[in-house]
Amino acid sequence: MADRSAGQQLHLFPGEPDQELRPQAERRPVAAAPESGLAAFASLSQLSVHVRSCRQCRLRAGCRQVVFGEGDSQADLLVVGEGPGATEDELGRPFVGAAGQLLDRMLAALGFTREEVYIANVVKCRPPNNRVPLPDEIAACLPYLNRQIDLIAPKVILCLGSTALQALIGPTARITRDRGRWLTYRSIPVIATFHPAALLRDPHKKPLAWQDLQTMFRRYMELGGRAPSQPGAVVLQGEAAATRPDGVRAGRLRA
Ligand code: SF4
Repeated sequence: MADRSAGQQLHLFPGEPDQELRPQAERRPVAAAPESGLAAFASLSQLSVHVRSCRQCRLRAGCRQVVFGEGDSQADLLVVGEGPGATEDELGRPFVGAAGQLLDRMLAALGFTREEVYIANVVKCRPPNNRVPLPDEIAACLPYLNRQIDLIAPKVILCLGSTALQALIGPTARITRDRGRWLTYRSIPVIATFHPAALLRDPHKKPLAWQDLQTMFRRYMELGGRAPSQPGAVVLQGEAAATRPDGVRAGRLRA
């Protein structure tokens, strides 16, 4: 999800009452990429070449480039966001704007560098005016994320925000109700927390996000996920320091 300006701060969570304020988009439905055909791509690099030439939905016409995702192709933690924003569209990398910098701090609070996880989005092309991707756009792009999931085979998926949660779990999922709960997608444990862009708009949610991250990390370690290379060292405002499940004294997440 792109960072949205303060003037658009009602646009917190897709599916909630602010949604009618989002820019309206052309509603001509688009077809999904056939998932079965993607099994031929045996590596993320092969799949990336294919996806970067995709014109499957209307989003490609309005963006600069496809943002495939990045990180450790064998990561035990897969982070899934909504879609590229302006900075991501410009640089071709996921989560590199202000929200991405907060995501880096969220990961660092657990001891991860971004190179130790894999970061992807539900849609690979930036929606115009940073609107929420439409259901048919998500359906068109989801096979790519599914193939990424199959190739990476993470032990845990962390959804950031409502769009990612609903794309994987279903349209009735609600981030405010279902964050911090364990769910399953493609037989992989899934947990959701607030999108970093939402945390930037409402810092009071950060302690809840930190709880979710700790819940995620505990299960991640129980499932044998590779331990982060660094001790958690970043400070979350208003949240007490915590001990990581692997015994490392973690810091807190800074705003
Ligand atoms: S958003 Fe996904 S399906 Fe749509 S054009 Fe981009 S890569 Fe293709």
